[in-house]
Amino acid sequence: MRRKMVAGNWKMNGTRASVAKLIDSLREQELSSDVDVVVFPSAMHLERVIASVAGTSISVGAQDCSVESGFGALTGESSAAQLADLGVEWVLVGHSERRLILGEGLETVSRKFAAVQANGLVPVLCLGETLEQRESGRTLEVVHEQLSSVIADRGIASFAGAVIAYEPVWAIGSGLTATPEQAQEVHAAIRGMLAEHDSEVAEVTRLLYGGSVKADNAAQLFAMPDIDGGLVGGASLKADEFGAICRAAGN
Ligand code: PEP
Repeated sequence: MRRKMVAGNWKMNGTRASVAKLIDSLREQELSSDVDVVVFPSAMHLERVIASVAGTSISVGAQDCSVESGFGALTGESSAAQLADLGVEWVLVGHSERRLILGEGLETVSRKFAAVQANGLVPVLCLGETLEQRESGRTLEVVHEQLSSVIADRGIASFAGAVIAYEPVWAIGSGLTATPEQAQEVHAAIRGMLAEHDSEVAEVTRLLYGGSVKADNAAQLFAMPDIDGGLVGGASLKADEFGAICRAAGN
């Protein structure tokens, strides 16, 4: 039985004041003990958020890390070793905004995945197709390419200590959500791709859906057999909405 998980990606949002307010409101939410709840603030807010959620069931992840896993001459980057030192437990890897806007390719994503695991943290590997790719019938081919590049570099066993988030790019921040059936179809295919290498790993790896998840569509998505929770962007900036999504995962 896979434990449900809901992750909130705050992206490049928040001031010290608004982040403090958001955390205060999140602390007031009733959260199910059956669900892993994780928030991903901007790097400069990580230390403060980690201190503020201490003693709660909420854990903290980073939105990105360097391809280099340790310390050294790489101006402006933050390494997984530094994130681990702060108390970060999870790291998003290969979010579509980084792949498409910042030009992160397959090799970079794979190296980041490795750097995260080398420091004992859990990567949340994001996969997903653009609208053009979906409309030309290439969804599964694209997701397969993104996934198999990490499997080829890191090995299938590495996925026993990882989470995958399927996020169709056309559904991110657009208000267009994949239907539960559309999302389930891709999730089942991803689990099948893992199973081609190792059926036990496929059974334990959590697959999150991301793309305009809201309180009013979360329950239907999370009820699908291969959807183990959600990666939530916009709606994670509102504590009541995010709390409701987390509760939908616990039901
Ligand atoms: C995301 O960026 O990971 C995301 C899913 O965003 P949104 O929920 O706003 O679509």
